[in-house]
Amino acid sequence: MLRITTKLFISLCIALLCNTVFSQPSLQYVPEDLAEGPMQIERVKEGLYLIRGPFSLCMRDDCFIGETGPAPEEANRETGDIAVRVTDRGLILVDNKFYDQVDNVLDLIRSISPLPIMYVLNTHYHSDHTQGNSIFRSAGLDIVAHKNTRSNFLNKGQAGEPNIVFDREASIFLGDVEVRLLHVGRGHTDGDSIIYFPDLRTVHAGDLVMDGMPIIDYSAGGTAIEWIQTIDALLEIDFDTLIPGHGRIMNREDVLAYKYRFEEMNRRMRDIAQRGVPIDEVLEALKLEELGWENTGSTPTWLSLSLEPYYNEMASQ
Ligand SMILES: [Zn+2]
Repeated sequence: MLRITTKLFISLCIALLCNTVFSQPSLQYVPEDLAEGPMQIERVKEGLYLIRGPFSLCMRDDCFIGETGPAPEEANRETGDIAVRVTDRGLILVDNKFYDQVDNVLDLIRSISPLPIMYVLNTHYHSDHTQGNSIFRSAGLDIVAHKNTRSNFLNKGQAGEPNIVFDREASIFLGDVEVRLLHVGRGHTDGDSIIYFPDLRTVHAGDLVMDGMPIIDYSAGGTAIEWIQTIDALLEIDFDTLIPGHGRIMNREDVLAYKYRFEEMNRRMRDIAQRGVPIDEVLEALKLEELGWENTGSTPTWLSLSLEPYYNEMASQ
């Protein structure tokens, strides 16, 4: 009896171990239950804050689609997540939302610290993350970003281009805090920066990681294939907390699940493109609802900007 019990115990342990080691992340993304509301600031860790919102259900209702709707940039359900790092020598700001949202951003920052902003960093060039640059440049602040992000600003004729650039890695030391900027590969654009707070084991990944459907900006060097390698490089960084370009704070498991879905979408699109499925039948064949990505805040932008060039990228593989 003792031997049977021991065998049973060992079998159970092996089953549990296998389940732990080989369990897959969930394929099904679970969207946040968002209500409309104003911009908000929340504490991520000691000395690090996240500014999200304002929250609009506009994109969920597809209200920008159509000739009379607002422009896509105005219809983002939630503009880019901002990180605020507090040091005893001042603040470091990561991204800054739209131009007309900066006053609101500054009000929220004043609610956590009276110290001045010393540097503004950009994760990439998109205006829902960086249109406020012009205001900070006018105030004499330096804007730091990857060199391709500056090029993207200039190529697109976008005001407020960064005036300090880097290639692979740079650090800003302020007070007793280091903030590291890393470019580990292409993905959302060709100028994506990961902003790393090593003492807090936290990163702001910009739109390399989105709380929803990943938008691939082919007009600025984005690529779905290299993006997966870029996520692998991101996962080599020692972090336990991640601020995405849009949406909720994540952990490593969330990022692994995001990569898992993205790889699955790539597999499907590669198969669809190589079978020559007509472009107007691609969306149905992709079965985005199985990934939970059929109606996220970023899905309408993905449909208008990414779908066709994504098909072409995968057809060439
Ligand atoms: Zn973006």
